[in-house]
Amino acid sequence: MVDLGGDVLVIGAGPSGLASAYYLEQAGISYVIVDRADEVASTWAHLYRSLHLNTASFVTYLPGKRMPVTSPVYPAGHKLYEYIRQYAEEHDFNIRLGVSVRRVAPENGGWLAETSEGSFWFPCVIVATGRYCAPIIPALPGMNDFRGQILHARDYRLPSTFAGQRILVVGAGPSGVDIALELTQAAQLPVYLSVRSDIVISRSFPYGLPNSAWLILARGLLPKRWHSKFLNKVLYHGYPDSRAAAVEIAPNRTDRKGTSTPIRGRGLIDAVRASTIKPVPGVTGFHQDAVELADGSRLPVDTVILCTGYRPVLDYLDIPFETDSQGYPKRADDLDEGGTTEVLGWPGLYLVGRFYRGLGPLHNIRGEAKRAVQEIRARLQIP
Ligand SMILES: Cc1cc2nc3c(=O)[nH]c(=O)nc-3n(C[C@H](O)[C@H](O)[C@H](O)COP(=O)(O)OP(=O)(O)OC[C@H]3O[C@@H](n4cnc5c(N)ncnc54)[C@H](O)[C@@H]3O)c2cc1C
Repeated sequence: MVDLGGDVLVIGAGPSGLASAYYLEQAGISYVIVDRADEVASTWAHLYRSLHLNTASFVTYLPGKRMPVTSPVYPAGHKLYEYIRQYAEEHDFNIRLGVSVRRVAPENGGWLAETSEGSFWFPCVIVATGRYCAPIIPALPGMNDFRGQILHARDYRLPSTFAGQRILVVGAGPSGVDIALELTQAAQLPVYLSVRSDIVISRSFPYGLPNSAWLILARGLLPKRWHSKFLNKVLYHGYPDSRAAAVEIAPNRTDRKGTSTPIRGRGLIDAVRASTIKPVPGVTGFHQDAVELADGSRLPVDTVILCTGYRPVLDYLDIPFETDSQGYPKRADDLDEGGTTEVLGWPGLYLVGRFYRGLGPLHNIRGEAKRAVQEIRARLQIP
């Protein structure tokens, strides 16, 4: 049994929790971070091996420590994982691993947290449990009858596991496309990729500069109302031969029909043109040895890999709250315009790790963690 105490409970020892701890230490506020996993950055420990960041290394880092200057512009995910672990070791944060939070509820002007180690009261709580705790598994008819294997991208590691198999990858976001591309080295060809809508492709180095550099330039040089127009022109200027690739490419992120996150580079276009990846319509159901597609056809496959995204899990918050379109409690949250990280209507409860937009999650987490600690300072009346 551990004793948890301090002014702030931080739930989650991923980048959001660690960034929060950094600013709490700077402010001299006592805290404890808990995480149900036995290691820090457990989300990054389990992402697929070939993952590369889609945000540039010069904006993707935790407060007070940039990624090494020798890092490639888009480093491998496992390099970021090593960096985060090292960051936690260097700072010697107050972290208790293997502690699960089961319920958080308001009590006596603060918050009572029921954990696997008992119940503890804190004046403030930072929710840093991330957007990626629960894989989204679509419920499709016949799924239980399928004799092959169905897995989520979260459980995918290496292509060699699927040598010679007929594979369908569902979802054409960054994970789906990465995984389909690397499976072309091991699985039976073609690898099928289920695409329900148009795909957004951004260039890795438009006009010779990484995406993130263009975002910084736009923010520095242009009025806010011109940002997306300018970036749409620069980041998504098309690949002239993509029309022949049998997938519909959106002109840019704003004018896409679907909602998928942009993928980077022309790898998918080349693979489709070479017929090593074959786009197929959305999946509507399963049979014993095949999937049924939206055009009514049956596709016999051995394995289906669902790259269908993740959702946050906040069921431990025992309070009524309104959620936004991504399942998060609403905050007054335009931080650029004087917003707050506090959950709307719940003083002392803060949310860090909410934004995917702009320069990317890791960049945004630095700003959110700093803001949360400023708000906590004011609440605790620390000068
Ligand atoms: C495939 C993929 C690629 C990505 N690529 C990029 C990228 O290129 N650039 C970028 O900036 N970001 C990227 N991200 C997004 C983001 O940076 C990471 O997801 C990051 O890990 C978010 O940090 P976090 O601390 O908010 O959440 P997480 O890292 O998910 O940490 C949350 C922690 O909370 C713990 N937890 C959950 N519930 C409880 C509970 N009840 N009790 C105790 N502990 C709990 C979990 O064990 C976990 O360790 C990517 C994400 C994914 C999935």
